[in-house]
Amino acid sequence: MANYDTIVALATATGSGAIAVIRLSGPEAIPLVNRVFKGKNLAEQASHTVHFGTLRDGAEVLDEVLVSLFIAPHSYTKENVVEISTHNSRYIIERIIQLLIRQGARAARPGEFTLRAFLNGQMDLSQAEAVADLIASTSAASHQVAMQQMRGGFSNVLKQLREQLIQFASLIELELDFSEEDVEFANRAQLKALILEINNVIQKLIASFEQGNVLKNGVPVVIAGRPNVGKSTLLNTLLNEERAIVSDIAGTTRDTIEDEVNIQGVTFRFIDTAGIRDTLDVIEAKGVERTREKMKKARLIVYLADPQHDDLEEIKNQLAEVEQLDVPYVTVVNKVDLLTQEHVDTLYTIDPLFISAKNNVGVEELKAELLHKVNLHDLGTDDVLVTNIRHVEALRKTEDALQRVLYGIDGAVTSDFLAMDIRQALHHLGEITGSVSTDDLLDNIFSKFCIGK
Ligand code: GDP
Ligand code: ZN
Repeated sequence: MANYDTIVALATATGSGAIAVIRLSGPEAIPLVNRVFKGKNLAEQASHTVHFGTLRDGAEVLDEVLVSLFIAPHSYTKENVVEISTHNSRYIIERIIQLLIRQGARAARPGEFTLRAFLNGQMDLSQAEAVADLIASTSAASHQVAMQQMRGGFSNVLKQLREQLIQFASLIELELDFSEEDVEFANRAQLKALILEINNVIQKLIASFEQGNVLKNGVPVVIAGRPNVGKSTLLNTLLNEERAIVSDIAGTTRDTIEDEVNIQGVTFRFIDTAGIRDTLDVIEAKGVERTREKMKKARLIVYLADPQHDDLEEIKNQLAEVEQLDVPYVTVVNKVDLLTQEHVDTLYTIDPLFISAKNNVGVEELKAELLHKVNLHDLGTDDVLVTNIRHVEALRKTEDALQRVLYGIDGAVTSDFLAMDIRQALHHLGEITGSVSTDDLLDNIFSKFCIGK
């Protein structure tokens, strides 16, 4: 373990909760708190114990606190960690942190606790990143994916791949020492089989990103259709149901907004748009172009039609345009409350879902259809999903390097070329878990954390 100084930060959010936790980590954490704590002698207490007492700045009592001790290496950072639970007053917290800094602690930088956990081997880089995801998770699905990654599911898969490759790399590098003699320690057929197998795993991981990303960031859904078909009304109906749980602010109808709705644990990000066909003047045309861009990027389109205004031919024309975007879509006829039997009979040819956005009719069926269309596989607890673009990029580079190894084997290239590409592949795999890392990379990852994490 490297020798670090002792850092301190507020670990809980500032706000109106009753209790705040101030965390210290480092070799001096316990003696440093002990000097200002009146209660038991903390230096003599066991790990994972909690102690009541007061914190004092000279003779002045700052607060009654609970002090939790975690003695190295049995802590989050693998260093000595002290957590002080105080009353959640900004004044008290500020005073205590200042006091601890005067005793020799240093204010922690963003993510520094987790950075130490990584540097001290408590977790690998992808697990550290999962901690940030876990804290940010807002749905059951994103929580499950982050949890899986944090507990090392992804890391274990990568570790196995690396170990297998390292074995071959060392055999091939052995051949380099005997280059005059044309020996082959590494069986080429076996190497090829191994790489095909590894690439297969890597491709599955890369493919899982689509689902992983959707679970982490939400499914982008565009609600499209002509003005007045009821797009905003639908979005409000979807949102109100959701929001009724947390607040009863009346939904207001706005245009081009984006909002999240949680459907059975999956976050959908709904994007309400201006109509897709009102291209009459230039300004509107721009809006339409934007809409089209959004639609192309969406994972799903809900196309809304209002047969009061558009006949079947017109609706079919619009659907043809949607179809060209090559994005899965759901055809929905709104204002079912106003439809005649004749409408319904003709519309059956396009097989729509009939809803009334205003009266909340058919909206549950629409939700079920949306879930069905995104086609998320049920996550088993052991499923590993890649949710991080940095990881996907590293996996793609690994795959490229391994592909070169395969070409090399087929082309009977010399061992040194094979060794070079295998090393490349190992390098990129290592970037994910952090067995290969640079200060810039670490900086980039941990600076996005909050202070105290
Ligand atoms: P947008 O332009 O597509 O966003 O359409 P709006 O959501 O603003 O709705 C246009 C009009 O249609 C409003 O007056 C809504 O109240 C009305 N509307 C929306 N859904 C329904 C519905 O299911 N039935 C009826 N009768 N009217 C609806
Ligand atoms: Zn609208």
